[in-house]
Amino acid sequence: MAPAATKRRHVILEAGKPLLRQRPFRAALGPVKTTMEKFASPGRGNGLRLSKAVKAGALLYREEPFAYAVTKKRLGAACERCLRRKERLLRCSQCKVARYCDARCQKEAWEDHKRECKCIKSVEPNFPPDSVRLVGRIIFKLLRQSTCPSEELYSFSDLQSNVEKLSEEMKEGLGHLAKTLQLYLKVEIQDVSQLPPALDVFETFAKVSVKPDTRQLYKLTP
Ligand SMILES: [Zn+2]
Ligand SMILES: [Zn+2]
Repeated sequence: MAPAATKRRHVILEAGKPLLRQRPFRAALGPVKTTMEKFASPGRGNGLRLSKAVKAGALLYREEPFAYAVTKKRLGAACERCLRRKERLLRCSQCKVARYCDARCQKEAWEDHKRECKCIKSVEPNFPPDSVRLVGRIIFKLLRQSTCPSEELYSFSDLQSNVEKLSEEMKEGLGHLAKTLQLYLKVEIQDVSQLPPALDVFETFAKVSVKPDTRQLYKLTP
């Protein structure tokens, strides 16, 4: 590697990368991870930084995202679990929308798909906008109270919604999405008491929609 590049101390986070079955980096992550810390920058939000210098290009962190969904555009062309693109994918026999490489990917994806599968089926022949499907998945995951390794550094509730910075037009757009979500989830969630405690649906949409950097952590386009 060129000496100039070595001096630059790049920080590489790969939270948005597709999921890996083999995770060769995982065992090596411990020492690097301990040098990473959260910090708040007034007016600019929260961030992660290193307390020690590392070599340029070093992989610092890789983890599965808290929630993700194949975009509408790629529906049927990528596995819903590992996000690999394949010509021949198996189809979920219930909703007939979700597709998988094989039985293993389908099995691994079932916890994330189980409840949304009923929702997808219930709104046929329509399909929810990408952000609605994603927020649905986030809600079901929060309800399961299952821990996600990626939350070690930042939990979903840590994310800033920046609602106060939204234009009226954006707020209106998010309001429409919240209504669409209500219809989409209706078969599984009939009223607000069934939502995760203290969850604000509007803020949740703002969290996944406002900042491109934030969205990248939660939504993957294969
Ligand atoms: Zn399904
Ligand atoms: Zn797969």
